[in-house]
Amino acid sequence: MFTNKENFKQEFKQRLIGKTGRQMHEVTEDDVYAALGSMIRERIGSDWAATNRAYTEQGERQVYYFSMEFLIGRLLGNNLLNLGVLDTVREGLGELGWDLEDIEEYEADAGLGNGGLGRLAACFLDSLASLGYAGHGNGIRYKYGLFEQKIIDGHQVELPDYWLQKGNVWEVRRDDKKVNVQFWGNVESHEVNGRLVYETQNSETVWAVPYDVPVVGYENSAVNTLRLWSAESAANPARDFGGAGSNYYNFLDYKRSVETVSEFLYPDDSNYEGKLLRLKQEYFLCSAGVQSVIRTFDKLHLPYTQLAERVAIHINDTHPTLVIPELMRILMDEKGFGWEEAWDIVSHTVSYTNHTILSEALEMWPEQMIRELLPRVYMIIEELNARFCGMLLKQYPGDQDRVSRMAIIESGQVKMAHLAIYGSYSVNGVAALHTDILKNREMKDFYELYPDRFNNKTNGITHRRWLMHANPDLENVIDHTIGTAWKKQPDQLNELLKYANDAVVQDKIRHVKLKNKERLASYIYKKHGVSVDTNSIFDVQVKRLHAYKRQLLNALHIMDLYNRIKEEPSLEITPRTFIFGAKAAPGYYMAKQIIKLINNIAQTVNNDPQTKDRLNVFFLENYSVSLAEKIVPAADVSEQISTAGKEASGTGNMKLMMNGALTVGTLDGANVEMYESLGDEGMYLFGLRIEEVEKYYREGGYSAQAIYNSDERVKKVLDQLIQPGPFCQNGQSFDPIYHSLLSHNDEYFVLRDFASYADAQTQIGLDYQDSKLWTSKSILNIAKSGRFAGDRTIKEYATEIWGVNPANMASRSGLQGNH
Ligand SMILES: *Cc1c(COP(=O)(O)O)cnc(C)c1O
Repeated sequence: MFTNKENFKQEFKQRLIGKTGRQMHEVTEDDVYAALGSMIRERIGSDWAATNRAYTEQGERQVYYFSMEFLIGRLLGNNLLNLGVLDTVREGLGELGWDLEDIEEYEADAGLGNGGLGRLAACFLDSLASLGYAGHGNGIRYKYGLFEQKIIDGHQVELPDYWLQKGNVWEVRRDDKKVNVQFWGNVESHEVNGRLVYETQNSETVWAVPYDVPVVGYENSAVNTLRLWSAESAANPARDFGGAGSNYYNFLDYKRSVETVSEFLYPDDSNYEGKLLRLKQEYFLCSAGVQSVIRTFDKLHLPYTQLAERVAIHINDTHPTLVIPELMRILMDEKGFGWEEAWDIVSHTVSYTNHTILSEALEMWPEQMIRELLPRVYMIIEELNARFCGMLLKQYPGDQDRVSRMAIIESGQVKMAHLAIYGSYSVNGVAALHTDILKNREMKDFYELYPDRFNNKTNGITHRRWLMHANPDLENVIDHTIGTAWKKQPDQLNELLKYANDAVVQDKIRHVKLKNKERLASYIYKKHGVSVDTNSIFDVQVKRLHAYKRQLLNALHIMDLYNRIKEEPSLEITPRTFIFGAKAAPGYYMAKQIIKLINNIAQTVNNDPQTKDRLNVFFLENYSVSLAEKIVPAADVSEQISTAGKEASGTGNMKLMMNGALTVGTLDGANVEMYESLGDEGMYLFGLRIEEVEKYYREGGYSAQAIYNSDERVKKVLDQLIQPGPFCQNGQSFDPIYHSLLSHNDEYFVLRDFASYADAQTQIGLDYQDSKLWTSKSILNIAKSGRFAGDRTIKEYATEIWGVNPANMASRSGLQGNH
């Protein structure tokens, strides 16, 4: 394997020619990507094997992070970075005539997630490996990732994201590790040695085939595994479809129906309707994942009473909650344990992260559906419910209300969060405020019952992807200012504080930001044909489109700015470029209306000669990890403006902070903790506090109509939603938006927070003019962002939830001193 630039070039050229059968001048950039990717993948192989050996030998508890989503994005750049060969490869490729950044664009962005929850899982994998913890991902290898978004005539259009079309150089198919998963059927019981044994008959069998993706740690030789399961038909065409009355086409139909299990990622991050296929997917992940965990444990030849000491199963939200009854099933039906022993093992193995307080997103399944699709699992859930309710009745005699509130099965629905809390030894929220809401409101009954079970783990992001890889120029400035210790200990970024007002450092920081803005501006020029003023404020709101995230508040404010300039053409305002990126769930009508509105606003303000030098709006299509990596380093202002109490944590806020953007935000999610670190000096707070929001919800008292009547600016903007004018061209109208605000009394307090938001924006405009002041705030943000590094979060999970220590990579057998 190469150790310097020269032998990299040598080896790479050989491989490129060997792989393509072309001469050097004939190869395409696609060829270069494929050859480089496979070369790096192979380089990882020996470390991968050695890491697994080290973990087994050292006997540390293995953590399995189960998640229906892993929004990992591209891997080439990050793998090169973590392997410590990024510069060697960049320079070597450069000398061969290719630009690494261009080559990276040939990798499909693995969009196996919707948004924050899936991206969190990806950041956690990076931190687990980089800190040397034995922590692995378990997910689904969706054939189609999150849809690709096109904007056509201002509307969102969804195209399938066939990310595997050109293959995936990182994955390794492991046929030897496939397991089968059973659906449907009927449960039979018989007695064996005086014990009732259950068996499911006439079930449909689906193969779960794992594809393993290496997760490379940062300069520590550790390589963990992300195991993604793919569904395949277990039928034998000749045996099962060869008989009379059957034919080959039945087999093809059957095969296709089985494969749908891992075909699509559900493009919705907030609520799941009663979709049988989604339930199938969840069980598919849980069953395959748990079986594979058990197989690995079996190789240790230890009694199952030690399972919990050796294995931690963590579930990312309730979607993988079925691991609880599935592990019960395996321990009882396959390993011969009685109920109590099995429960003791399970409830010391599983831990759970809650991600949301939006009631519509609390996952429930019709009892009937689980009973039919997963008959044995249903029996176990029913028994768990009976035991849990029995225990509650003893604990709270006579309090029937409380028992039915807390029950796992109630009114024909199975409540996954209740099952998850009951079966887990730890339940955590994802930011301090969110955990408080869980304890004191949403899961109050459970907190009273199990006070020690609840804890907070404020989310974090990997500074390797979001700073070092996405913003190498900033990385450089930081290195030259405070040294490189922050890379292994991101809280060392705090050292930058001393330089917040240093003129030389400020200059460098400004220069980096400008360069990043120029890069984004040229991307915008390519996509929209508009030249952007890079001295304008780049004001960024990038995240899933959702009413509670209030892209609408941002949009209405831009309409107001437009109106003000039109009324007073000489108005002095700091030029602004508003940048949006957001996918809407395909069935979410209101979200799609908001996308259209933003695009109408863009059309008008970007083309009006009176505004286009001061206001620009761009809706960048197909927001994804790789697009985020282009936008985040270029942002001056970060919009984190959700209604207080609605955003569990947010992680976009952290990425932008780490790249020196200043936040305009509400006291919601992790913004609260950002504010603790930054104070008024480093952040622009506005809007209702959560107590005020709750008071309004409890007591009423808020009238959107009253604000409409009393605030002329608001009235004008709202009227423009439904009247012909600058934002409703050609007979369009945004009736549903208008009515959500007025007839339905503005559930998310957009109008209530409008004036306060506009004031904060005015202050931002003024402060930006004072570039010393602005840059010092920007440096303050970077300096304080170490607290939001995923490494901090993962250390907390490791010590406080899983009880695991980093493996000793140096002493592992075989590969000492590999780097
Ligand atoms: C970070 C990230 C998110 C989450 O953003 P929030 O602002 O926390 O909602 C969503 N999508 C992508 C692609 C991301 O990188």
